Amino acid sequence: MVSKPGAEHTESIRDSLLCLKCSYSLRGLSGDVVTCPECGERLNIVALVTQQWHDPWFHAPLYLVLAIPSVWAFLILIIAGISFAVSSAQPTALPIAFAVLLGGAAVWLALIYLAAKKFGSLEGAYLAMFVHLLLGGYFVSCFGVIGSIIGLIGAVLGGGGADVLLQGGIILVVCIGIVVAARVGERFVARRCIRQHLRRLSKV
Ligand SMILES: [Zn+2]
Repeated sequence: MVSKPGAEHTESIRDSLLCLKCSYSLRGLSGDVVTCPECGERLNIVALVTQQWHDPWFHAPLYLVLAIPSVWAFLILIIAGISFAVSSAQPTALPIAFAVLLGGAAVWLALIYLAAKKFGSLEGAYLAMFVHLLLGGYFVSCFGVIGSIIGLIGAVLGGGGADVLLQGGIILVVCIGIVVAARVGERFVARRCIRQHLRRLSKV
């Protein structure tokens, strides 16, 4: 499940790379790090492609394969959470909640296995796990930002104390920090995906 545009984008950037020192074309030279045949400069191909990447990071080849288990996990947790909440009023919902959780966990394991298989190494499984953190970070910070903005507006309109404003402000700053960290994490995953894709290309 390599996303076509991402793969093409990676390859077109790769093919257009020039030596940073002498502008000699680096096309056709294989390896993560290459030596310019013209001037001898050592160049990190993966770093150069990542620098020139302007699409969203999740468009990187193989990225979606790594992201599917985390999307699945969040869906299952939400459905199971609702089922557990309902079960406090409706005890018959409890077995359904457990069934969703167990069945969901089994599918999740299979998706992690598939991620590693399609990625072509165990690194795919580690990266897929890591993507959960990123998705969780976005999820939490999204709610945090909305919550703190509503809180701040409420505090301003209702003439709330400085401590309420301060609290809302701190939450907002923390959430923005989480988003920035998640962006860095996404870039890291995308870079590993690009590296893996280029390595596969050079083997063909
Ligand atoms: Zn050169």
